[in-house]
Amino acid sequence: MGQFAVIGLGRFGSAASLELMKMGHSVLGVDTNGKVVDKLADQITHAVIADVTDREALEELGLDNYDVVLVAIGEDVQASLLCVVHLKSLAISTIWVKATSHAQHLILSKLGVARIIHPEEEMGIRVAQALSYPMVNDYISLGNGEFVVEIGVSERLEGILLSEVLQDIPDTIHVLLIKRRSDITVHPPGEFILQAKDVLVLLGQLTTLKAIAPKLV
Ligand code: ADP
Repeated sequence: MGQFAVIGLGRFGSAASLELMKMGHSVLGVDTNGKVVDKLADQITHAVIADVTDREALEELGLDNYDVVLVAIGEDVQASLLCVVHLKSLAISTIWVKATSHAQHLILSKLGVARIIHPEEEMGIRVAQALSYPMVNDYISLGNGEFVVEIGVSERLEGILLSEVLQDIPDTIHVLLIKRRSDITVHPPGEFILQAKDVLVLLGQLTTLKAIAPKLV
């Protein structure tokens, strides 16, 4: 279980806080706005009203005990940058920041921020991918064109052996696992009999994955 601090509880910050709680982590949420703090108070570990542009107020939060501090202040770029400068001066090691512009990105990278997030762009790319490849439920990019993708098996393949399906698929594609409701079979054998709605988790080059996806749906 990790300890996370989320600064700025707007839509992005509160969604991130609630998801971290769901995953079993402990979350400190901070905002200047008493209303948003009250709203989350019962749902996260600690919710505190503080202005993070004030170095002393920030120091009092004891953020050095946290694994990651996520700065999720969106519109007020000056407040976000000032907060990051204070966090750096307090020797907070792992800082993630939501950025809204390229200028902010540049400054944050000069400040040595561990991860700069552009939620609108990242979401836009994911939505475009989902629209282009509706058969792909979810994916992770591993870099260099390598992807892990989740593809739902169509009814057409009900009762067919996995080995038969794999005959048509290049061996550069790896079937990492098959999900059937809550059951997971890691490295499924060739004799595995597919059912409609099974979900295959595949690893391979995106170009190859795109080419073979129609054989599964
Ligand atoms: P989103 O697009 O995710 O909703 P917003 O910019 O609307 O992002 O929300 C950011 C949150 O950060 C707001 O709830 C705001 O009150 C909070 N915030 C802004 N400045 C500060 C500050 N100096 N200290 C703490 N919280 C702040």
